Order: sequence, then C-alpha cells, then structure tokens
Amino acid sequence: MLIGAHVSPAGGPAKAVERGAERACRAVQIFNQNPRAWKPREYSEQEVADFRTALAASEVDALVIHAVYLINLASEDAEILEKSRTSLIASLRAGARLGSSGVILHAGSALKNGGSVDAALERAAAAIAEALAESDGCGLQLENTAGAGGTLGRSFEELARMLELAGGDRRLGVCLDSAHLLASGYDVRSAESLATVLDEFDAIVGIDRLKSLHVNDSQAPLGANRDRHAPLGEGEIGRAGCAAFLSEPRFDGLPCIFEGPGMAGSQVQKADIELALELRAEGLAARD
Ligand SMILES: [Zn+2]
Ligand SMILES: [Zn+2]
Repeated sequence: MLIGAHVSPAGGPAKAVERGAERACRAVQIFNQNPRAWKPREYSEQEVADFRTALAASEVDALVIHAVYLINLASEDAEILEKSRTSLIASLRAGARLGSSGVILHAGSALKNGGSVDAALERAAAAIAEALAESDGCGLQLENTAGAGGTLGRSFEELARMLELAGGDRRLGVCLDSAHLLASGYDVRSAESLATVLDEFDAIVGIDRLKSLHVNDSQAPLGANRDRHAPLGEGEIGRAGCAAFLSEPRFDGLPCIFEGPGMAGSQVQKADIELALELRAEGLAARD
C-alpha cells in the first residue's frame, strides 16, 4: 500500500513531491488547479520535467490528481456542465503529462428538489464518456460519496451504474473513501465488516475497478450522509477501523491518501503519516 497525503502543488508539481517526501509519503494527491476557481492551470514543459526529476529522486511512487469540487457533470445548467467537462478534460490531460495514476472525481449531484437520480446518472455518464474520448493515457476514478444532498456515487450500485452508462472503458475505475463509506451506511469499523463491504463491492462493481483509496476518519456516524472528516483514529471509524482499512489485503499496492484534517490542524503533517504507518502495522498484527 502506498500511503500518502493530500498536499499543495503551490510553486509547481515538483513542490508537491517535495512536500510528500518531507511527510514520508509513498503517494501524493494534488488539485491540478485552484479548487475554488474554474480557471485551468497549464503546466509548462519545464514544470513537467522538474516534476519527473523530483519523483524519480524521491520515495514517492504515485501521484493522484483530485478534480476540483466545482465540477458537476450532472448539472442541468448548460454553462456549468460545459465548464465541468472542460475542467475534467484539463485534469485528465494534466494527469497524462505527469504520469498520474489517475484523476479522482466526485461526479456531481442530482437536483436537490426531487431531480431524478437516473437522469442525473445518465448526464454524468455521458459527460464522463466525452471527457475520456477527449483525453488519453490517464485513468478516471469515480469516488464514492457520503451521500449528502443529491451527490452521485453514494452506493456501489450507483457507481456501477455510472461506469456502465459511461461505456465501461478500461480507464474507468473507483476510489473508495473510508469516511464516505461509513457516512453512506457501509460499516468499515472492523476488519470483518470491511471484508463484507468489499465482498459486496466486488459483486456489484468488481474489485479490479478499485484503483485508489482515501483513508479518512469520520466525524459523521454510520449512515449519517454527511461528509465530515476527522483525524485518523479520532472519529467514528476509530483506531481499530483505520488500522483494518490500512491493512486490508485487497488494498495492497494501491495509493491510499489521507486528506486530513491532521491531528494538529487542517494540513496533513509527517506525524499523521507516521500514525497511518503505525496503524497499518497494528492492523497487520491483528490479522495474524
Ligand atoms: Zn474526494
Ligand atoms: Zn470527504
């Protein structure tokens, strides 16, 4: 498992590798542009070259890109839909240039007041298929959501439906977030319950679609449908649950990103990654 953190790419993507290395990360996640604005950020040839040099010289083995939260591929507003698609394509192209293991996406949200989920899934899937057609070489991973509002991807059935409607391309995968799993009603608080959840994921989506992970603890309890992260071990998933997630054998080899907040505030620090490694060791010991 490649344990790592969400880090800032301020100063260029090579800086993100540096920040990851300082935190003992084996994987890093970045936003490829300012997450609060639509304006795309194009990396120069020099920035890409510097990133690759920094990566090769570090212990960091994987970069995942998180598409910005502004994106709503299920929007019925033509302008928002177009901006969302353009932004996703920019992320996929940036991912290809940087050799990213994938772009992680919250697909979007159905209308708040009774908008049809089926129609929203169809709109999102059509936009995903277009974004794949207009990019190459970088995977796209749909993230499971906590299920707040009309957010799409709250269940394995919804993720499977979007993958299918989008054409089931081999570049399509899934990112599972532990906090979102718990909040959307999947019990991931022990190794046994997590194994049952993954059996269900395998039956409905297929475990081979699983390409990356977010390990976050959750302030929101099981099934609360709220997206509120907690520092590792300090939330409803707790130490034992985080240890189980970090040591799950079916997650071996995958990037596993702690997004925060860290124990000392919002940013993930080296101590948080050291805690994650410690929890993984505890989890592995408990499985013997
Ligand atoms: Zn996310
Ligand atoms: Zn979240």
